[in-house]
Amino acid sequence: MVKIKSDRQMDAMREAGRVVAQALAAAKEAAEVGVGLGELDAVARQVLEKAGATSPFLGYRPEFAPVPFPATACISVNDAIVHGIPDDYRLCDGDLVSVDYGALLDGWAGDSAISFIVGRPRPEDVRLVDTAFEALDAGIAAAVVGNRIGDIAHAIGRVCRGAGYGIPDGFGGHGIGRDMHEDPGVPNEGRAGRGMVLRHGMVLAIEPMVIADGSDAYYPAPDGWTLRTVSGARAAHAEHTVAVTDAGPRVLTCL
Ligand code: MG
Ligand code: MG
Repeated sequence: MVKIKSDRQMDAMREAGRVVAQALAAAKEAAEVGVGLGELDAVARQVLEKAGATSPFLGYRPEFAPVPFPATACISVNDAIVHGIPDDYRLCDGDLVSVDYGALLDGWAGDSAISFIVGRPRPEDVRLVDTAFEALDAGIAAAVVGNRIGDIAHAIGRVCRGAGYGIPDGFGGHGIGRDMHEDPGVPNEGRAGRGMVLRHGMVLAIEPMVIADGSDAYYPAPDGWTLRTVSGARAAHAEHTVAVTDAGPRVLTCL
C-alpha cells in the first residue's frame, strides 16, 4: 500500500536526504587512485554519525541475502552494477565507481546513488555515467501529479535503450518513507500511461542502472550481495529520492 506523506513529513525527509547527499559528496571527494573501498565507507559513515543519522543499509537483510549487509555504503566498481560490499579493494586509474547511500534521520529515510570515474576517464565510461544521470533526470521530470508510474519507467527506459545500453531486469526504484523500501515499485522500463496514478505526497526513489554493452544479464557474486554483469561490461547507477508534489517533482537528496 502506498503511504502518502504530508508536507511536514516531506520536509522531514528532505533533511534525511540532505545527509545522504553530504555523505555521497564526501565519499566522492575521498575517492582517488589507491584509496580502499572500506575507507570510502568510513568517510561517509562519519558524515552520517555527525548528523545524528543511522544507516538503513547496515545490517539490512532482504530475503535474497545470505548475510546482513556489513557496511553503510554499497560501492560497486566497473562490472558491478549495484549492492557492492566495500572491501579492501583499492581504486585503480579509470575505475567506474557507483556509490549508493542511505540515511535514517528522525524516523525518515533517504536513498541516493552516484556514479563517477576515478583518475583518467575512458570516453565510453563518461558517456555511460552521463546517460545514467540523464535517465534519472528524465524519470524525475515524469514524476508529476497525474502521470503514472509507467510514465517514469518509460522515460527512464527510453533514455537508456536510446543510448544502446542494457537495463538489468527486475531491479529498479521504489517508494520510500519511514521504510527504505515501500510501495510502489518503480521499474526502469515500462509503458507510458500504465500503472498507479501519481499524487501529491508520494515519495519515490528513482534509480536507473545501465549496462554498457546493451546486455541485461547479471549474476550475484559469491558474496551473495554484489550484482555483476554477465558480459563483464561496465555498469552505472544514479538515484534520487523524489517527492511528487502539486508544485512539481521535489528532489530530496540534493545538498
Ligand atoms: Mg539506493
Ligand atoms: Mg533505492
